[in-house]
Amino acid sequence: MVNRIFDRMLDYYGPQGWWPVMNLNTGESLYKRERYRSPGEMFEIALGAILAQNVSWKNAEKALCRLKAEGMVEPDRLWRLPVGKLSEFIKSSGYYNQKAAKIRNFLVWFRAMGNSFEKPDAMELDLLRKELLSIRGIGPETADSILLYALSRKIFVVDAYTRRVFSRAGLIGYGYSYEKIQSFFHEYFNGGINEYNEYHALIVAHGKEVCRKSDTRGRYPACQSCCIEGLCGKKMS
Ligand code: SF4
Repeated sequence: MVNRIFDRMLDYYGPQGWWPVMNLNTGESLYKRERYRSPGEMFEIALGAILAQNVSWKNAEKALCRLKAEGMVEPDRLWRLPVGKLSEFIKSSGYYNQKAAKIRNFLVWFRAMGNSFEKPDAMELDLLRKELLSIRGIGPETADSILLYALSRKIFVVDAYTRRVFSRAGLIGYGYSYEKIQSFFHEYFNGGINEYNEYHALIVAHGKEVCRKSDTRGRYPACQSCCIEGLCGKKMS
C-alpha cells in the first residue's frame, strides 16, 4: 500500500526536488533533481534542517538567505561569528536563540569531524546517526533530514505530516513512536534513495495542501480531491 500511495502522490504532485538550496540572486529556494551535493550544499542543508525546526520553510529560508548573504554559510566563518550576531541573522526562523545554540553545537561536532563531511560520509549509517543524535538540539527528524538530503543515506524522514496522513490512512497508529513509523516505511516501502528523498517531500506537500489538519478556522482534509482517496481508510482522530 505505501508503494501505491507513493506512485499516486508522485503522479499527482510531480517530483519535488528536495532539499532546496538558496539562490542568492532571487532570494528563493532552488529545487533540483540531481543527487550530487557539493560540500557547500551539504553544509547549507544541515543548517537548513536546524533552521526549519518547528517553523515553515519560508521562515527558515529567510534566515538561511540572510546567513548566505552575509557569507556565513561556510564552516570557519560561521564558527567565528559571535553567537549574538548569529541569533540576529536567523531571527526570522523563530526560536532564534535556541537555534543559534543548536547551530553552535553542530559546529563543535563538525569541527571535531575535521570541518568537512568526508569523515561522516565514510561512517556506517547507525554510527553516524548516533553521532548526529548526540549533538544537543538535533533530534531524529533533523538528524535523518541531514542523513537523507545532505549525505544521501537511505533513511526515511518522519514528521508530523507523515504521522497525520498515514494514521488517517489507517496504516500506522496515532500513538506510534518516531522509530516505529520509520521502521514501517523501511519495511514496506520498496524505493531506493531517490524515492526516499521524494516520498518525504511528497508527504509534506500532501499534508499541507490536501490532508490538512481540521481546525477552528474552517480548515479540514480535502478528501474529495485527494489523490489517494480509495487507498485511504479515513481514520480521523
Ligand atoms: S482521503 Fe482524506 S484523510 Fe485520507 S489522505 Fe486523503 S485527505 Fe487525508
